[in-house]
Amino acid sequence: MDLYSGLPYWIAKNPLYNYFNPLKTDISTDVAIIGTGVTGALVMHELCTAGIKCVMVDKRSITTGSSIASTALLQYEIDTPLCEMMKIIGEDSAVKAYQSCLQSITDIENVFKNIDFNPDFERVPSVYYASNKKGQKLIEKEYEIRCKHKLPVSILNKEQLQEKYGIKASGCLENDASAQIDAYKAATHLIDFHMRNNNLEVFTHTEILGWDEHQKEYQLITTAGKKIRCKYAVIAAGFEAGRFLPQQVMNLTSTYAIISEPIDEKYIWYGKSLIWETKEPYLYIRTDGRNRIIVGGEDEGFKDPAKRDLLLKKKVSILEIKIKKLFPTIPFKTDMAWCGTFSSTKDGLPYIGNWPGGRRMFYALGYGGNGITFSMIAAQIIKNKLTGIKDEREKIFAFSRTEEE
Ligand SMILES: Cc1cc2nc3c(=O)[nH]c(=O)nc-3n(C[C@H](O)[C@H](O)[C@H](O)COP(=O)(O)OP(=O)(O)OC[C@H]3O[C@@H](n4cnc5c(N)ncnc54)[C@H](O)[C@@H]3O)c2cc1C
Repeated sequence: MDLYSGLPYWIAKNPLYNYFNPLKTDISTDVAIIGTGVTGALVMHELCTAGIKCVMVDKRSITTGSSIASTALLQYEIDTPLCEMMKIIGEDSAVKAYQSCLQSITDIENVFKNIDFNPDFERVPSVYYASNKKGQKLIEKEYEIRCKHKLPVSILNKEQLQEKYGIKASGCLENDASAQIDAYKAATHLIDFHMRNNNLEVFTHTEILGWDEHQKEYQLITTAGKKIRCKYAVIAAGFEAGRFLPQQVMNLTSTYAIISEPIDEKYIWYGKSLIWETKEPYLYIRTDGRNRIIVGGEDEGFKDPAKRDLLLKKKVSILEIKIKKLFPTIPFKTDMAWCGTFSSTKDGLPYIGNWPGGRRMFYALGYGGNGITFSMIAAQIIKNKLTGIKDEREKIFAFSRTEEE
């Protein structure tokens, strides 16, 4: 599957991690992680830090799946508003899911502080504005429930929103608990760090086709017929994880993003805030350290990469019109544009943990607009499971939650 096309900004911004190491012999390890995206990297970091021996395998170059196309906003707010999610999974679980995402942003920050590296992680506020009357009602309801559970939130009316951010809408929710990152820089550095410091082995251009299950181990089989014997396997294969799943759990869709040329700092709104809206599919906006503006959205409900790519030009124009409507004085000039495969689940939550019955294969599937915060949660849950630590988040993100509907 073509996970993205066009020119994702991160490819132009970062030196590509030049590493080519296909698996040429049979090997054995404690844990094999399939996928070197941001999810696989965070899982690997947690496991290596806990002293667990693992190897990573990827059919592509390191971190050149969805993570290199990600706009990488880090928010505790999930695509499904808390007031809606409560109706699907219950108030207690929905609140815990939100609290977990909130904590996850700090945990991501700490992962990199602990190895003394900054993958352009930046704390920024977030603004969730009402796109229309229905959206205004939603944010009022959402404000109440988030206040009840002491989640960081404030509400601005039309005048306050216009005054503080220059956005014309009836109101917004605001919080100061969000962040942004460079997911490619983050994942490649983590992998490089553990290759240098913990003898981590990474096999690129090595595709896992299937596996045999034995009593106490798996044998993962590559397209070249090589075998990886492991006690545990972690599926961090992103939107291509379908092959490892007995049944479909996510809807694959298409999404679009553009980035401006750098602009004068005077045009950037208050706090370089992340901005998104209540309408679906939503428009979202962030900046980067060089005063470029990233605008994304315009999702389409199909996954066919050829069909997705045909729409890129049209979607660029629509995103440009939308950003100009929101900020008419900003001299936005598109520099790069890209599109990618995206995915959502019915309740907006990721799937983390074992498929019921399969005790030694772990899935770390961070689907939805919070993919990266979910990746951090997945990494911790899997580490805790392997080290015998009880994790109360397990059941919220488990596959079994949908069985209980
Ligand atoms: C345009 C766009 C914008 C986004 N914006 C945001 C955002 O603002 N905030 C956010 O949190 N998330 C966002 N996301 C989602 C986020 O980027 C993803 O959730 C995240 O990058 C997924 O990381 P991953 O490591 O799970 O998957 P990937 O980065 O795709 O890594 C999976 C890896 O597994 C490998 N693989 C797959 N199958 C096999 C196999 N059989 N054998 C060997 N290797 C295999 C692939 O080659 C790939 O490298 C966005 C995504 C896109 C596309």
